[in-house]
Amino acid sequence: MGNKQEYIEKAEAEFYKTYNRFPVIFQQGKGVCLYDTEGNEYLDFGAGIAVMGLGYGDPDYEKALKDQVETLIHTSNLFYNLPSIEAGERLLKVSGMEKVFFTNSGTEAIEGALKIAKRYAYNKDHCHDHEIIAMNHSFHGRSLGALSVTGNDHYQEPFRPLMPGVKFADFNDLDSVKALVNEKTCAVIMETIQGEGGVYPADPEFLKGVRKLCDDNDMLLILDEIQCGMGRSGAMFAWQKYGVCPDVMTVAKALGNGVPIGAFLAQGKAARAMVPGDHGTTYGGNPLVTAAAAKVLELFEQRDLVSHVKEMGDYLWEKLEELKERYPVITDHRGCGLIQGLEFSVPVGDIVKKALLEEKLVLISAGSQVIRFVPPLIIQKDHVDQMCRKLEQVIKGI
Ligand SMILES: *Cc1c(COP(=O)(O)O)cnc(C)c1O
Repeated sequence: MGNKQEYIEKAEAEFYKTYNRFPVIFQQGKGVCLYDTEGNEYLDFGAGIAVMGLGYGDPDYEKALKDQVETLIHTSNLFYNLPSIEAGERLLKVSGMEKVFFTNSGTEAIEGALKIAKRYAYNKDHCHDHEIIAMNHSFHGRSLGALSVTGNDHYQEPFRPLMPGVKFADFNDLDSVKALVNEKTCAVIMETIQGEGGVYPADPEFLKGVRKLCDDNDMLLILDEIQCGMGRSGAMFAWQKYGVCPDVMTVAKALGNGVPIGAFLAQGKAARAMVPGDHGTTYGGNPLVTAAAAKVLELFEQRDLVSHVKEMGDYLWEKLEELKERYPVITDHRGCGLIQGLEFSVPVGDIVKKALLEEKLVLISAGSQVIRFVPPLIIQKDHVDQMCRKLEQVIKGI
C-alpha cells in the first residue's frame, strides 16, 4: 500500500495524458455518497457524469449484476441472449420506439444514429453527398463521427478533416436551421437538453419547428438523450415532454448505472434503413451489460423514479433560485428535473475545486461558467439542503 500522493504520481506516469484530474481517489460509494481512500465522505451531485441514476450500492441492481456474472458474461452477436431481449423490450416500451441496437458507449450510439441517417439518404438516391445539420455548443462524443457533429471548435480543430457535409445551426434558433436545409440534407441531430454546452433545454417551439422541418423535407430527426434521458428531465426521455417524437434517439450514461452500455433506437422509416452487414459490435448488448440495463429499467418502473425526479427537481429548482437571489455572481439558472445549471459571471473552475476539496461536495461544470447539477436520481430533499449549504460556503469565500 502506497500513500495517496504515490498513487497519483503512478497514475500520472501510466495514463496517456488527456485529462486533468482532481487529486482525489474514490474507493467506495453508498447511496448518494462517495468515499475516498482516506475515509472522507463526499456528497455526490455529479453521479459519474449523470450515470449513477440509482446511486451507489443499490442491492437489487448489484444482485442482478452478480447473478449474471455467475451465469454468462459474453457470447457475441452471432447468437441470441436472454438479458438483451428483456432489456430491448423494456427500452422499446418506455421509449415507444420500434427497434433498438445496443452499443458500448454514448459516442457509439451516435455513430449508429449517423449511419442510419446516411443509409436512409443513400437508399433514396445512391449518392454520397448528403448533409447533416448539427447545433453549435452541442456535445455528442469523442469518436470521429460524433466529434464531427459536436459544435465545439476547440474539440474539433486538431482532428480535422472530420466527416464532411456537417453544418452547424444555433440551438433554439429555427431560422438558422431552416437556412441550412437543402435537397442534400438528410438529418438534424441535437440534444433535447444540451448538457456539456451549459444546460440549455430546447424551446418547445424550436423542437416542434425542427420536427416539422424534418417532416416537410424527408429528413430524420435524431435526438441525443444520452445525458438528459433515463428519467433525468422529469420524463423518461426529455422529448416526451414536448409532444414530438424523433426518428432516431440515442441513450447511454444512466442506462447501465455504471456498466458501459448505450443504445440507438429508431422508429418508422428510420427503423428499416440499415440491413444485415451494415453495422456490428463485438461486445454491444452482451448478457452482462444488458442484465444491468434490464434491471435498471425494471427498478425505474417499480419505484416510479420519474415521479421522484419531478418532485426532487422542483425542490432543487426552488433552492437554487434562492441561492441565485442571494448571490449576484449567479447570473442564470436553467434546466429541469435533475439536470439543472447555474451560470456564474466568473469561471467556475475554482468553485468546483473548492467544493470538492474543502466542502467534500462533488459538482461538475458544463463549459467554463456553468455548474451542472446531475445528482443520482434517488436524492432526497435533505441532500439538496446539504448541497446548497456546502455550495453557499464556497460562494461566500470567492
Ligand atoms: C456523454 C455524452 C455523449 C458521449 O457519451 P460517451 O459514453 O462518453 O461516449 C454523447 N452525447 C451526450 C449528450 C453526452 O452527454
